[in-house]
Amino acid sequence: MERLHSIFANHNVDLKAFLDLHGIEHEFERSIVGETVSLVIAESHPSWPDLARHLAVNSDLLHTVGLRYSAEEISQAGFCEFQCAGQFGYPQPEAAFGYQNITYYPSIGCRSCGIGLRQVDPFRFKKPPTQRHSHVVQLNWVFDEFFLSERARLDLEGSGLTGFRIGPAVLHKSGEPLHDWYQLHIDAQLPGVIDTSTFTKELCGQCGRTKYNHPTDRQIEVRLDHGAAPDISRSPEWFGSGGSAWRSTMVSKKFVNYISSRKWRGVNLAPVLVR
Ligand SMILES: [Zn+2]
Repeated sequence: MERLHSIFANHNVDLKAFLDLHGIEHEFERSIVGETVSLVIAESHPSWPDLARHLAVNSDLLHTVGLRYSAEEISQAGFCEFQCAGQFGYPQPEAAFGYQNITYYPSIGCRSCGIGLRQVDPFRFKKPPTQRHSHVVQLNWVFDEFFLSERARLDLEGSGLTGFRIGPAVLHKSGEPLHDWYQLHIDAQLPGVIDTSTFTKELCGQCGRTKYNHPTDRQIEVRLDHGAAPDISRSPEWFGSGGSAWRSTMVSKKFVNYISSRKWRGVNLAPVLVR
């Protein structure tokens, strides 16, 4: 596991001078927006200790921390969080989040914070996804729903893996099902809990339910109950901020090794610690 720092600054002359002086690779762009500097640097980089000291006294920038895992760490983990590498388009109708009114049961869950919504009808797409090389895609705003390419659907249907079923996704204009893309419905809940004791909490003023800001800078820890966990499941906890709410999707070692043997693309996997 490697810690990666993403840094972005505008009109930050000191940072630019520091990076040039130390020969640290970065992107620099002069435009009508200003003079922007951006870089991603691992803590294993020989100049990281110097840069860390500089960042401690240079606060006029955006600094986020993420984790990167090796293929070996991912294949050996007992469980991984499952995410898409990117999002495609918006659920329809997107104006005023109109999709919520037709995609979810009207009286289940909270429209203010998004916690607890339950799907009643297929998600509607403006146009079919164009990521021909991805096996799985996501829509913006809906971070715990996944859509499978035809090949990925065939893979999963023949996999013997548990915790899911496959259903249609629809083209909004015509109401017809998409031909080559399907929704992966994850019905199973993780038999256990995520340790949220150090996470930032948000309490909904409307319904009183809690969601957590999902950390990017540390590994998630899970306490599993006894008994077999399904190969794909969702966390009982809700994550997100503002109007967005989603559950973490967890996949078993068997799931990870299966999709890796099928060479799935477009997937991000992050090992979780199982306690
Ligand atoms: Zn709420």
